[in-house]
Amino acid sequence: MVPLSARAKQLSLTQKVALLTGSGYFTLRACPEVGLGEIRLSDGPTGVRGVESGHLAALLPNATLLASTWDEGLLHEVGRILAEEAVAQRVHVVLGPTINLHRTPLGGRLFEMYSEDPLLTGRLAAAYVRGLQDQGVAACLKHFVANESETERTTVSSVVDERTLREAYLLPFEIAIADAHPWSVMAAYNRVNGTPATEHNVLINDVLRGEWGWDGVVISDWGATTSVAPAANGGLDLVMPGPAGPWGEALVTAVEQGLVDGQVVDQHVERLLLLAERVGALDEPRSWPAVPGPASVLRRTQLSDLATAGMTVLTNNGVLPLASGSSVALIGRHAVATVAMGGGSAEVRAPHEVTIEQGLCRRLGDLLSVQDGVEVRTRLLPASPDSVRDPETGEQGLRLLLHDRHGALVKQATTTATKDLHFGELASVTLSAEIVRDGEIEIGVIGVGRWRVSVDGVEEVFELTSSGKGLGEEALAPPSRAVTTRACRGSRVTAVADLTSAFEGRPAFGTWGLAAGPVPASDEALIARAEGAAAASDVAVVVIGLTEEQETESTDKATLALPGRQDELVRRVAAVAPLTVVVVNAATPVLMPWKDDVAAILWAGLPGQEGGDAVAAALLGEAEPAGRLVTTFPAEDGAAPAWGVDPVDGEVVYAEGPFVGYRGHAAGLAPAPLFWFGHGLGYGSWHYDECRPASESSLLVRITNTGSHASREVVQVYLAPREPGQPVRLCGWASTTVQPGGSCEVTVVLDPRAMRRWGDGGWVSVGPGELLVARGLGDVRLRCPWPLRADRDA
Ligand code: BGC
Repeated sequence: MVPLSARAKQLSLTQKVALLTGSGYFTLRACPEVGLGEIRLSDGPTGVRGVESGHLAALLPNATLLASTWDEGLLHEVGRILAEEAVAQRVHVVLGPTINLHRTPLGGRLFEMYSEDPLLTGRLAAAYVRGLQDQGVAACLKHFVANESETERTTVSSVVDERTLREAYLLPFEIAIADAHPWSVMAAYNRVNGTPATEHNVLINDVLRGEWGWDGVVISDWGATTSVAPAANGGLDLVMPGPAGPWGEALVTAVEQGLVDGQVVDQHVERLLLLAERVGALDEPRSWPAVPGPASVLRRTQLSDLATAGMTVLTNNGVLPLASGSSVALIGRHAVATVAMGGGSAEVRAPHEVTIEQGLCRRLGDLLSVQDGVEVRTRLLPASPDSVRDPETGEQGLRLLLHDRHGALVKQATTTATKDLHFGELASVTLSAEIVRDGEIEIGVIGVGRWRVSVDGVEEVFELTSSGKGLGEEALAPPSRAVTTRACRGSRVTAVADLTSAFEGRPAFGTWGLAAGPVPASDEALIARAEGAAAASDVAVVVIGLTEEQETESTDKATLALPGRQDELVRRVAAVAPLTVVVVNAATPVLMPWKDDVAAILWAGLPGQEGGDAVAAALLGEAEPAGRLVTTFPAEDGAAPAWGVDPVDGEVVYAEGPFVGYRGHAAGLAPAPLFWFGHGLGYGSWHYDECRPASESSLLVRITNTGSHASREVVQVYLAPREPGQPVRLCGWASTTVQPGGSCEVTVVLDPRAMRRWGDGGWVSVGPGELLVARGLGDVRLRCPWPLRADRDA
């Protein structure tokens, strides 16, 4: 085989540079002269959504739910599933995992990341990467680095001192790189201490490549590259997306002017060729074996089991698992329209999404009554394709016309994706439909622009604008508005968005859609009906949560309070139903002012396409919701070590230092939380019998399941250093499943990467302290001095 360096040298400078920008949104250029085939990329944290949008793919439980299993074996399985999904779509690189940390609970994208703890995050990420790359599909760790919030995301500078970077935000990358050797890393949108992450010579060239000895490809986040020579010299290999981008001719000129060394370009090309070799896109193209489709029966059970495994019992007075034969009143918008995923580039078009109503109905039949809950969104949802038809062709869906600045028609189609993304030189979007569903219908429009909406000839004109807060907001969080005229079956609706003032000559970028759903009942009426249903059943299950309006790329949250009148719904149901179980359908912390008024709380995350089935299995005890929290739930807004996400003068200062999440709570930087990181009851009940050193770096812990259900326990060990200023930190965990009345001894290996601190420019060992054997720091069961001495009993 011709060495990669020799291949790079065969190309002219222009040819080389051409390879360093994508050929499309998710594709890289082929170059037959050097044996390079096309490389295809796809987003991937919760499913491989594909190179072109619209493909059906398996929608997995979201990252925090998977991480809540604390199970590296399971994350390896996730990687393998994603590899199969990638192979089915001829994808070489999956853009995941996302391993930024849960710094402030307001971060809009937390649902894509694993946790607030760097060790847990890094180890789970490594398992995912191995699962993926064992099948020859590249992983891409993202977003390197200090990308923990979304506000002003393309310009914000994260101000983080070196110790904090090393001990917290770089650590997951360091661990995943050392343990799994991922083949690519994505440079983030933000700046780090003023320097764009895409041109951070110190972080990319010195730390990632130099210190960590990593040889993979650094890919820019989409549209993140803003410079030529600084980025090329700073270590960025590949600008995405393409074909246009800041490099191209400008990089050729920079080399000719001596601003970038030709050898630097050669190195970028060599790394790209190495990636190609690793994923089977060099010389002989890889063969793509047939794999089971995403909707196979096997996959459905597997995805449901994955979701249940991460679900977390937060409180339980004994009502869970539900006794068989109980009648259940299922209540809430999230029960009938379960939120399976977060918003943004992690969105996947799943073959189906099982609601909690469907999951429970299949099991309980007549024992189940269902009642919709209060409104949970401020924006309208797009019409479902089966409620509208194209007035021209009669096909299911909407008629879509796109016109350019010169009035020319650039696209004309029937679309069933009733919310659609468009880019380019658009001047107007026209959507028209005939309503085919029964009842009184509320019509609305989604997307920026000056709208002219006509329902059966009655016209309304208004303007919708975005807040302009973040890149992508027009696409991921588009404004919407209902019109006053109601429609019914047979009504004709035409909505035209004039985009000229919204984009003022810039290429249009956004989402436009038509809403057409039943006129909603009032919240008051819905709560009253919920009270009636709850009073008439043995158990009330109220499903509450967040939606893609809060948990999304491009914007952050402003509060942890549940949207709408959901708190009131829970309180009023709990007042009439002593056995009220609350299921939280959200990936990240919410406030629970009614916590002590309800019989049990099950945290269900964003459970993916089989979510409703997984929740039903958890509630009924068919499988144990054995998760442990991966992030601390603050008791109130603001009561966390890091809170605000609005940059001041373009900066977000990581002032809490390494005291992220539970570390900060434990150090008194914030009051005691509602639930600690690591908390989770499962269906067991545990006595911690004893712990003793097994070696200088491992602890033996003996536990007994004193409950009446077989259960999986996650034994967590934290180090509390005696030295002031050193945060308590998770340093190891192990899990085991024990039958009721049974005992078991587990060995917890203490990860050396958690037993260090960043000293003056280097790592030093943490001094003496205490090891805490705990079920989250709110429930410490055993203690043992550190350092361990194998010959000494604890
Ligand atoms: C996101 C990345 C994603 C990329 C491609 C960006 O907006 O930040 O995580 O991989 O888009 O979709």
